[in-house]
Amino acid sequence: MALYTLPELPYDYAALAPVISPEIIELHHDKHHAAYVKGANTAVEQLAEARDTDSWGCTNGLEKNLAFNLSGHVLHSIYWQNMTAPHEGGGEPLAQDGLGDLADAITESFGTFEGFKTQLTKAAGTTQGSGWGVMAYEPLSGRLIVEQIYDHQGNVGQGSVPVLVFDAWEHAFYLQYKNQKVDFIEAMWQVVNWQDVARRYAAAKERGDAMLLPQH
Ligand code: FE
Repeated sequence: MALYTLPELPYDYAALAPVISPEIIELHHDKHHAAYVKGANTAVEQLAEARDTDSWGCTNGLEKNLAFNLSGHVLHSIYWQNMTAPHEGGGEPLAQDGLGDLADAITESFGTFEGFKTQLTKAAGTTQGSGWGVMAYEPLSGRLIVEQIYDHQGNVGQGSVPVLVFDAWEHAFYLQYKNQKVDFIEAMWQVVNWQDVARRYAAAKERGDAMLLPQH
């Protein structure tokens, strides 16, 4: 049985329109994300075969394939959950909506919500080639950081846990936004599911604290 499986979308293909067209969501999930799942499973299987046959000639390529495809699977799995219909999402996290912990963490980490929003917009919008803009929980400082990820796995601080991810690959927007990546990233803020982001932040914080090694 395959180790990794493609998660179902938490909404219809059309749920994020007009911010993201149904055609993009269908292709992005059913073809692109599915390919990363398949690629991760293939890399795992080929590495098992390398162990079984003691043949290590392709180790470097297989490990790269594993990192690329598994990271693609992880980020897309978060991406779908991070979004919701425009009439339900967007805005900013507020204490009155039960999102006070996240709102405080953003303010403590970035100064202001607007400062954070601009930084993440710039990180996603200035990716060269393929990449992501990500807000992640960084456990050693206990703060949130913005990362600009190359492909799916480069330029990442080890141990940081992605909490809010913006896919800036062309497949995420080109059919609708053409070459206007920044317009797409700015529109993305309308479909952010802050309830999901807050849930991920709380879980990352709880789990991440385990990385702080006890002193002996
Ligand atoms: Fe993607």
